[in-house]
Amino acid sequence: MNTEMFLVLDFGGTKLTAATVTTAVLDKGQLIWRTRKQAFSPINPSFQTDWQTMRQLADAALDGGLPVAVGVSFGGPVDFETGIVRLSHHVPGWEGVPLAQQLTDMFGVPVWVDNDANVGALGEFWFGAGKRCDSLLYVTVSTGVGGGWVINGRSWRGHERMAGEIGHMMLDPNGPPCLCGKNGCVERLASGPYMAADAMHLVQKHPEKAPVLRKMIQEHGQLNGRHIAAAAASNDPVATHLLQRSAWAIGTAIGNTANLINPKRFILGGGITKSGHIWWNKVRQAAQETALPEIHFDIIPALLGDDAPLWGAVAMCLQNK
Ligand SMILES: [Zn+2]
Repeated sequence: MNTEMFLVLDFGGTKLTAATVTTAVLDKGQLIWRTRKQAFSPINPSFQTDWQTMRQLADAALDGGLPVAVGVSFGGPVDFETGIVRLSHHVPGWEGVPLAQQLTDMFGVPVWVDNDANVGALGEFWFGAGKRCDSLLYVTVSTGVGGGWVINGRSWRGHERMAGEIGHMMLDPNGPPCLCGKNGCVERLASGPYMAADAMHLVQKHPEKAPVLRKMIQEHGQLNGRHIAAAAASNDPVATHLLQRSAWAIGTAIGNTANLINPKRFILGGGITKSGHIWWNKVRQAAQETALPEIHFDIIPALLGDDAPLWGAVAMCLQNK
């Protein structure tokens, strides 16, 4: 049997992953890595630390083997055609790095690089919750809110490769300021760090309305998205308000997007989507209320979890073989 191997790399926000998969396994329809190596970024990561760590991970994952193609998911905007990184959302020094060229020089094989939202969308389309679905938007709700399109089976990147920025759809012009300079963006209302910051503020202002959150702050010193979800599940009023607001923002953005593009499916992944039925019910309700009654779609959880970008990188290799 003629077995070929793909090398896939994920430059994530806090961790770096390299994995290999063989076509023999894929032909059987199995989602099994041949090897998978992961490392967390150091406290103050830079382009140099990322690149060096990833080279070591790739060597370990290849284990002496040679790939026939390399697929890369990158946590920030990338020019897909040239494989040049515009910037990393998390790590300084990546601006203008010709990532595809550097990897081509190393391995002498075709290399495909795209941003994590587009690659994650492709992963879910080929191997996960979007199989046989001709049009989908994959939305990640975690430290930020990102989106990637698959339309007619291909990534749809838009005129300037910036399509899918559902996180900066503005829902409340009078709302709190977002890092992008606007107010009341989806990401400002729905992402974990912003929810946690708002929770800290509200607990100080209305301690009597946040009995569970208060206890969590005493215990941990700070909060994250998981704490908000857990406190909401214990009926903490402030946590419930923030979690409902997060879900409302995601659902409203989905309803607006459905009106504009009419995709069949929305696939949601990322830490905040593990917040339970309070969050999911509100997302679906707000989406239905926002979309026109003639417009139908489903909203379902991602299947591949943190590995969606890696599987999407495999899909890029297969698609461009
Ligand atoms: Zn924004």
